[in-house]
Amino acid sequence: MKKILVTGGAGFLGSHLCEKLLNEGNEVICLDNYFTGRKSNIIHLVDNHYFELIRHDIASPFFIEVDEIYNLACPASPIHYQYNPIKTIKTSVMGVINMLGLAKRIKAKILQASTSEVYGDPVVHPQSEEYWGNVNPIGIRSCYDEGKRCAETLCFDYHRQNNVRIKVIRIFNTYGPRMHPNDGRVISNFIVQALKGEDITIYGSGEQTRSFCYVDDMIDGLIAMMNTTDDIIGPINIGNPDEFTIKQLAEIIIELTNSKSKIIHLPSVEDDPMQRQPVIDKAKEILHWQPTTQLKDGLQKTISYFENEIFSKIKK
Ligand code: NAD
Ligand code: UDP
Repeated sequence: MKKILVTGGAGFLGSHLCEKLLNEGNEVICLDNYFTGRKSNIIHLVDNHYFELIRHDIASPFFIEVDEIYNLACPASPIHYQYNPIKTIKTSVMGVINMLGLAKRIKAKILQASTSEVYGDPVVHPQSEEYWGNVNPIGIRSCYDEGKRCAETLCFDYHRQNNVRIKVIRIFNTYGPRMHPNDGRVISNFIVQALKGEDITIYGSGEQTRSFCYVDDMIDGLIAMMNTTDDIIGPINIGNPDEFTIKQLAEIIIELTNSKSKIIHLPSVEDDPMQRQPVIDKAKEILHWQPTTQLKDGLQKTISYFENEIFSKIKK
């Protein structure tokens, strides 16, 4: 049995990770400040004697003895990370320094949840790990993009300077049950709008693309990376390479929900990346990982979850 710290454990990805690690027979400490996370995401785990919940902000130092750290704490949706951009940077810089300092002190392995946003608005397509990216350093997304880029730098410097055992994973757009209905990301917005019969809001032309990974596939990828030998440090892309335009996504969600919602176009958001698709050769070769869930199958499961979230609350 390993003792594992999951920061951001009450969030969308973190809650699935806590659950899977517990099911694999580990002791899990979930740390969260509840900025975008919810206790309801992990309430079903609290009776498990091997699960512990701690309210803490990683921007402040934290001490504990564990074997592994998954550092997921950071708001991921543009509306949430832009709400308090200075705090977002503090989480990705001071928070990551605190977690790397902890890993150094207790000789734990640490996995950093990086992002496809380090590629910015990519001029190379699809994106492999060798591409250095195209990020606006002073734009409204840079608190997140540059914060995550700095977090990667910190991981590699702690590794080179202090031999910290790092694992850097670049996560591409992921969706599934436990996304917050007000999360603001495209899949949750479109499903909630479709289920409520509201207009589906496409920002800009809808010709911009994303590649969507179902949450169960993503969690398997994160755990596979953590379980590699110490020479594997990344960065490694984890995502589903099936690429869709946002307009196609809207049409698929309307079809799957049988919705009468109309598509409307709102002004595009600043610095919105026009295309995004991961090259996952490294994940396949090194982690023996690839996604297995097709978009429509994953969306069905996500739609069922949101139906329950929205309509059970309305009944109450
Ligand atoms: P989320 O917002 O649901 O979860 C983030 C969690 O971190 C929340 O529970 C939040 O309360 C917590 N948190 C935020 N700041 C904190 C702080 N300073 N101290 C302690 N806890 C804090 O987002 P998610 O989709 O689950 O993303 C998890 C991680 O994966 C993030 O680091 C995100 O950048 C990364 N990521 C996610 C995606 C995706 O598509 N879901 C894509 C790329 C990267
Ligand atoms: N988007 C949209 N309507 C929405 C929410 C998002 O058209 O209601 C678009 C957004 O402009 C972007 C894409 O969907 O082009 C993905 O946005 P999201 O916030 O989910 O993720 P990110 O931009 O961080 O990849």
